[in-house]
Amino acid sequence: MSKNIVILGGGYGGIAVTKQLLQGQIPEDNRIILVDRMPFQGLKTEYYALASGTIADADLRVPFPSDPRLSIYYEEIISLDIHKRLIYFRDNEPLDFDQLIISLGCTDRYHGVPGAELYANSLQSFASTRITYQNINNLSPYRQVSIVGGGLSGVELAAELRESRPDLNIRIIDRGASILSTFPNKLIDYVQQWFYEHEVEMLSHISLTRVEPGLLSMSEQSIHTDATVWTAGIQPSRIVQHLDVDKDTQGRVLLNEWHQIPGSPHVYVVGDCASLPYAPSGQAAEAQGLQVAEVIRASWLGKQPKLGKIKLKGMLGSLGKKTGFGVDVIGKNTVLVGRVPRVIKSGVLWMAKHHLG
Ligand SMILES: Cc1cc2nc3c(=O)[nH]c(=O)nc-3n(C[C@H](O)[C@H](O)[C@H](O)COP(=O)(O)OP(=O)(O)OC[C@H]3O[C@@H](n4cnc5c(N)ncnc54)[C@H](O)[C@@H]3O)c2cc1C
Repeated sequence: MSKNIVILGGGYGGIAVTKQLLQGQIPEDNRIILVDRMPFQGLKTEYYALASGTIADADLRVPFPSDPRLSIYYEEIISLDIHKRLIYFRDNEPLDFDQLIISLGCTDRYHGVPGAELYANSLQSFASTRITYQNINNLSPYRQVSIVGGGLSGVELAAELRESRPDLNIRIIDRGASILSTFPNKLIDYVQQWFYEHEVEMLSHISLTRVEPGLLSMSEQSIHTDATVWTAGIQPSRIVQHLDVDKDTQGRVLLNEWHQIPGSPHVYVVGDCASLPYAPSGQAAEAQGLQVAEVIRASWLGKQPKLGKIKLKGMLGSLGKKTGFGVDVIGKNTVLVGRVPRVIKSGVLWMAKHHLG
């Protein structure tokens, strides 16, 4: 009987595993199965542009690999039993697996703020971003958009939306001292200056206590909003939230040195669901995915895998279509601002779209 190697989620991590496995020989009794709800990979790092209306939906779809050794199931996964080795789908019979790679990405973390899940818009899935696009872009002139969370995705959304809709009032709310508070000061100053010049309001040290239609509440006052977008935190996919395994404080699954769940070496976890010593990113998911494929390949050959340390290449962000910023891109502790990091970011996206990334 053939052995099923099942990859859950065809995002940055899952596709890296899939492509790397398909690059070499696969034992004849092994079947590679990729499962995703979508018929393509969504380029999540650009969802802020989809929400702003500056890029077409079709431009953020990358076809899944096509290979006679790969089966693709388009299913909504609802739960997993890693001990019975079964995956449960919303609309179909369960699928069994011999080895499993969980790369289901993340969802919003609402920090217990009442109403946030119900009334705030999201950028965490292709489907939710399409709804966000509609809700923001159907606003009439001078309406107020509130972006909750001044991290990378909140900042990119605020800037892109400003370019897309100069008529809207846009504010970005953060509970820290400033936007991008974990980044170097030079970068923060540059982005803040851009926001001043482009009339994006920045509110800091604000902890929301409630989100309601048309209203955001904090300790002693409420402010009006016409559309709210939540970019204030993430947590692993709901399927992983319900897995009874050891996790870190952010809910990400703790793994051994081979990226396997300790005690369940037939289960690997990749990307935003995995407890890695880095902030969740597409880049980290891809790098880890390549290593998981190496471990699986070594197991086929009966060898001990040799994994090096994952090296990441720094981070890039955009402020609209013409300018941007980057950290550690051209060397450790370097900061880039202006046109150059924006051009590099466009190049990275181009490579991702053309499977060269
Ligand atoms: C606006 C924004 C900007 C970002 N910018 C950057 C950036 O500049 N650089 C960077 O490195 N990272 C960036 N990130 C983070 C990056 O997108 C994620 O870290 C990355 O996508 C994680 O990869 P992954 O493989 O874990 O999950 P994903 O790429 O999210 O893939 C998960 C896959 O699982 C599928 N899936 C999930 N649940 C189910 C289910 N129940 N049933 C079936 N299928 C399911 C999804 O359809 C998806 O295809 C950004 C994120 C956002 C939101």
